[in-house]
Amino acid sequence: MHYTGTIWRPPYEAGSLIIEATAGCTHHRCKFCTLYEDLPFTFRPSPLEDIEADLLEAQTWYHDPLRKTEERLFEQEPARVDRIFLAGANPFGLKAKHLLSIAKLVHQYFPGCESLGCFARVTDVTTKSDEELRVLSAAGFDGLTLGIETGDDEALAFMDKGYSAQDIVTQCRRLDDAGIRYGFFYLAGISGKGRGRAAAQATAAICNQTNPWLIGANMLTVYPTSALYREIRAGRWTEETEVEKYEEIRELVAGLSIPVTFAMLGASNPVMLQGQLPDQREQLIDALNTIITDIGEERLRAYRTNLRHL
Ligand code: SF4
Repeated sequence: MHYTGTIWRPPYEAGSLIIEATAGCTHHRCKFCTLYEDLPFTFRPSPLEDIEADLLEAQTWYHDPLRKTEERLFEQEPARVDRIFLAGANPFGLKAKHLLSIAKLVHQYFPGCESLGCFARVTDVTTKSDEELRVLSAAGFDGLTLGIETGDDEALAFMDKGYSAQDIVTQCRRLDDAGIRYGFFYLAGISGKGRGRAAAQATAAICNQTNPWLIGANMLTVYPTSALYREIRAGRWTEETEVEKYEEIRELVAGLSIPVTFAMLGASNPVMLQGQLPDQREQLIDALNTIITDIGEERLRAYRTNLRHL
């Protein structure tokens, strides 16, 4: 398989076949991000020949390996894969025509594949026409994971995310219209010391105007190789405490009025949680209160300090 560097995927894509469509990130500027620093380049689309070779190789995994080769050669039933997750920071940033070529290959090798997902930046939607989004939806693109991070415009600008809070609403409405579902990644701590709860309120207000199936919260971990670390050293930015991050998340959970799965499942979360809003709001808030009071800053910070890699 043509896997390059560390392969990242959301926890809920664990059952998907992962095919690399891009390596690195088209943006590569967010100050806190160190995800693709192990690559010798910033962004590279995978050649279609590599994608086809990987699909061909993956086909062999979905047949019974104990069956005789000649039996498999005459296999009538195609290999069954329901969903494919295209790896890379933002494969949705590829041109629609290129994405459609990938979808065509996927359906050629896995005719039973019902959907294709990937990470996407908000700006990846902006650059596609409504018609292109509709065609991509018809080709199976669905369940995108958008790393919106926050609805706090000041933090979005400082971290150089490249879009505004209003852009999130505008582009999600376009995805809604095209029939492409999406989940969000939220980044607790992105607004810095003293600003987390206000940022959570701003984010809830943005999310409440959209229709994500999931909001997955992650927590900021600052690594020494990041541009954000240099900002901290220069005295231009101060980190939230770990307790503040949980207070921020509690504020977000309290402010969300849309029906949505709320989850904290990635390694950046010292304690993992998942619940359905609005039904399990109280249980989620109780659990967050328990983390704040019973675990406390020292132990939460120790987890963060020992988190060598996300
Ligand atoms: S868009 Fe995502 S992968 Fe790219 S630099 Fe920002 S956080 Fe990192």
